[in-house]
Amino acid sequence: MIKIDHLVKNYGATRAVDDISFEVAKGEIVGLLGPNGAGKSTTMNILTGYLSSSSGRVLVDGLNVLDAPLEVKKRIGYLPEQPPLYLDMTVEEYLIFVYNLKGCTLNRTKHLEEICEVVKLTDVYHRLIKNLSKGYRQRVGIAQALIGNPPVIIFDEPTVGLDPKQIIEIRNLIRTLGRDHTVILSTHILQEVQAVCDRIIIINKGRVVADELTENINRIASNCNRYQAKICGPQREVLAMLRDRADVAYAEALGARDGDAYVYHIESTKGIDIRKSLFYALSAKGWPLIGLETLGMNLEDIFISVVDKTDESAAPKAKGKKGRQRTFEKDLAQSILDATAAKQESIAPYEGDE
Ligand code: ADP
Ligand code: MG
Repeated sequence: MIKIDHLVKNYGATRAVDDISFEVAKGEIVGLLGPNGAGKSTTMNILTGYLSSSSGRVLVDGLNVLDAPLEVKKRIGYLPEQPPLYLDMTVEEYLIFVYNLKGCTLNRTKHLEEICEVVKLTDVYHRLIKNLSKGYRQRVGIAQALIGNPPVIIFDEPTVGLDPKQIIEIRNLIRTLGRDHTVILSTHILQEVQAVCDRIIIINKGRVVADELTENINRIASNCNRYQAKICGPQREVLAMLRDRADVAYAEALGARDGDAYVYHIESTKGIDIRKSLFYALSAKGWPLIGLETLGMNLEDIFISVVDKTDESAAPKAKGKKGRQRTFEKDLAQSILDATAAKQESIAPYEGDE
């Protein structure tokens, strides 16, 4: 449905988007994640035809955004980071204004009623937009995007500034829309993409650094062999013993202490569950194991390790600081980066480039 092909955008000397490629299939809900300034909004603005690219191309439903800007715009409902609301209009006036602007031909009253039902705006339909709360204004922004029933929906930070209850409502709404639309949304709230997206694309410094199905990310995250152990005994010797073990890939003593027990972060060698053997080994040494917890990894850990890893290779000077980063996360980040790079390579470059 959407194909972004070696996209580059320069703002003067700043390269905001640096060779981004990805494809989105019909019906997919894709989350664009990335730190502030990563290039998410710029990418979305190019995709929707609001900005031109410096090079590369964007196809929506087989149409090039540059060749058929109006046709493409008809297929896309866009909620920009700052929704273009006219505060002195009522919700009704504004939606009718957008309806006319889009040259929509659906039955107006029925269409707007249906949209307001979906985004729950019916109660405030006759109120002035300036008197609405942030949450309701955001819904007006979403309603405006849905006018004309476009098959592709693009939301830039749809839940920013909303309270937790509103966030859940908007998320549910996005999930509902995902049933019969192709959706791309950007956010820096990680749980958000995990909750609603089929696929996660992480952008850092204008580049795609990760592109994975959410279920794969969840599987990777739960498959990691990381433990937090509380062990009584001399810290230095315990640590040395842990590091000596063949089934331990990484061990570190954490600051926490509980009487004569210290807390350790342990990562086992790939695929090995060390819990039982660790118990016997410590018992043989006379060092009671009084706590052992398996640690999952969350999207946040993955996000940070992937972003750190790319920052590190871009600026090797920062290495000292990151030197203590855990091996598991480093390996994982590298494997995600490698898989993503391969995926990016597989998208054939546009003949018009270089
Ligand atoms: P994100 O949405 O991921 O936070 P943006 O796409 O807004 O990132 O910005 C990417 C980079 O481009 C940032 O470094 C930002 O400062 C820069 N940038 C964005 N818009 C402009 C502009 N109109 N002129 C110059 N630089 C810009
Ligand atoms: Mg942005």
